[in-house]
Formats: sequence, C-alpha cells, structure tokens
Amino acid sequence: MRKALINIDYTHDFVATEGTLTCGKPGQLIESKIVELTEAFIQNGDYVVFAIDAHDEQDTHHPETTLFPPHNIKGTTGRNLYGNLARVYEENKDKAQVYYFDKTRYSAFAGTNLEIKLRERGIEEVHLAGVCTDICVLHTAVDAYNKGFQIIVHKDAVASFNEIGHEWALGHFVSALGARVI
Ligand code: ZN
Repeated sequence: MRKALINIDYTHDFVATEGTLTCGKPGQLIESKIVELTEAFIQNGDYVVFAIDAHDEQDTHHPETTLFPPHNIKGTTGRNLYGNLARVYEENKDKAQVYYFDKTRYSAFAGTNLEIKLRERGIEEVHLAGVCTDICVLHTAVDAYNKGFQIIVHKDAVASFNEIGHEWALGHFVSALGARVI
C-alpha cells in the first residue's frame, strides 16, 4: 500500500519555549522521533508532506483569531520549522517526493489540495506526526477517515500542551477512526 507522512505544524510558534502558542516540553521531546520518521520516509522514497498552519496578521475573518493569540503569521520566524526538522526539510525540499504547503484550518485537508496530491499518487495510507495531537492532528485524522484513508498515528511523534487531550485523542484515533497508533 502506498503511504505518505504528513508532518503537521512542527513550527517555532507551536513548539519552542518562547513560541506564541506552544506545546512546550512535550512538543520539544518528540523532535528526534519526528526527524527520524521524516528521514526514514524520505529514504524509502515515500511521499512526505509538510502541512503548516499559516495566518495573515489581524485576519478578522479567520475563526482562530478570537480563539488563540497570533501564531504562525506568514513571513515571521514563528512559522519556521522547529529544530532539526528545519534542517531535514532544507536538505530535501527540492525532491519531488517532498511537498510543503500552507494549512488554512486545523485539518491539513481543509481548503488545500492535499487530497488530490495523495489520490494522484495512489496513496491509501497516511501517517501522522506533529502537533497538537488533540487539535490539528485530530482534525486531519477525522478528515482522512471521512475520505477513506487508512491512518497510522506515530504516538512518539505527536504531542500536545494538554496531556488529557493528548491521551484522549490517542484513544479516539483507534476506537472511532480505526487508526493504528504505533
Ligand atoms: Zn492557526
């Protein structure tokens, strides 16, 4: 079965201690795992996606504006990939198997061409990594489920600022979305 890795929101604002909407320590602790996973997919010739939240400054039409402090603003360093994942992306970004795009909502599928990119490559299985487990990873998983993709969540490569939410989402992936959590 053809597979893809979807890297979700592993950026400075969501992971660094001084990030504006950070997962903090739990996010920083998955760095080596998310890097290892990404490198393994690249080496294996699989499709690797970076689905990265993008906001315009003071976008009054975006629903997150009233829910969260400003984060992942286009053109700011807060939107840069965090830690060694930034290096892995830089080293591989010119490869045809690597695709970086701006996310518009929590789900990587919402308002993007991700689904058509996966379908045209015959990909049936999506592997999820990144942050936050119970927000953007969860919403991406729900959309993947509704679209009929098999879902694998790498539990050591997802994290949240909310430990209870994180644990709940890991259970939900399995019990409601038929995902494998490995
Ligand atoms: Zn956002």
